[in-house]
Amino acid sequence: MVNIEQCLAALTQVLGENDKDVPLHEPKFNGNEWQYVKDCLDSGWVSSVGEYVTLFEQKIADYTGMPYAIAVMNGTAALHVCLLLADVAREDEVLIPSLTFVATANAVTYCGAHPHFIECHESHLGIDLDKLRTYLTQIAIVKDKQCINKLTGRRIKAIIPVHIFGHPIEMSLLQTLAQEFHLKIIEDASESLGSFYRGVHTGHASDIACLSFNGNKVVTTGGGGAILIKDEALAKKAKHMTTTAKRPHRYEFYHDEIGYNYRLPNINAALGCAQLERLPQMIENKRHLAKRYQDVFSDIQGASILQEPQYAKSNYWLNALILDKPDRSFIEHFIDSAVERKYHLRGLWTPMDRLPMYQSSPKMDLTMTHQLFDRVISLPSSPHLGGVYA
Ligand SMILES: *Cc1c(COP(=O)(O)O)cnc(C)c1O
Repeated sequence: MVNIEQCLAALTQVLGENDKDVPLHEPKFNGNEWQYVKDCLDSGWVSSVGEYVTLFEQKIADYTGMPYAIAVMNGTAALHVCLLLADVAREDEVLIPSLTFVATANAVTYCGAHPHFIECHESHLGIDLDKLRTYLTQIAIVKDKQCINKLTGRRIKAIIPVHIFGHPIEMSLLQTLAQEFHLKIIEDASESLGSFYRGVHTGHASDIACLSFNGNKVVTTGGGGAILIKDEALAKKAKHMTTTAKRPHRYEFYHDEIGYNYRLPNINAALGCAQLERLPQMIENKRHLAKRYQDVFSDIQGASILQEPQYAKSNYWLNALILDKPDRSFIEHFIDSAVERKYHLRGLWTPMDRLPMYQSSPKMDLTMTHQLFDRVISLPSSPHLGGVYA
């Protein structure tokens, strides 16, 4: 049994005694945020015209090293467009971890395709590639450079790795597997802005990736997302699709296909520009916070703090306490008693295969995912809690 009092004491050592709530993850706007947003208000450029969107896209491309970034109104929209760009079609299947935020599964469904749930690994919470290989070898065949699910007869078109809590998965192994089975890779890097896989920012292992700038992510635009793209023609297509497919013209409205009104408003991009200026400090703070959690929890029996894989440098978006054994009642008690000290903890997302709309979706054995649901607790992880930079 893990000792709750010891865990609470460890939390207090890192977070201090508080009369104000300590949320799971909250943004701070103590840089140029006020100035840039005021700029939008003063100029009247708050919506779909203005310079901050282009600037924000440039900054995202520069930081991640991906050639093109297209800003959109949230991470879910970014994923949706990524799937369309990857030619995911009706009745296709897309492999995604059951352990993820619901956006990953929903974006697949928006395309008329089926999410196909795969197992995660306890060491980084991302896809278990060994188990996946065994599974695909059993249920799939490659015919005419297409991966076919022998059980459903449908094409398995793509795979979406998710870098859970910011920890990159072993992308070179995934690339090998994806090549073998003719799967397109779309990286859901929503949680991993500022995380590097073997020295390269996450998103590079695929041609198309997505980011999220929701209020609880490392960098926020209020709500927002981005599509990261390597190919210029594809980037142009993405821009076109996300801006109602309108042909540029001085006064005419002419749309040449069914587009999406997914563009990020200027006022949100302004917020993001200011946030990005402080991203390196935020990452340093977050890594410092992770180190402190690791130190204070190292003496506690029966639980440990999730650490970055050896091949990666993680942004530690959310710190996670992992119990050695599943214990739902410990999780409930710990979360409830932490709230009395104003610390807001969270459990993992309910595995996708347990949600009503996805209960009959194809899936592999998900024993580890279901165990982790009863083993993992997320801890407050806002950058300023790291305390290196104010
Ligand atoms: C945050 C997140 C998204 C996107 O969420 P939005 O709220 O739509 O920006 C997608 N996938 C994962 C894994 C996420 O954590």
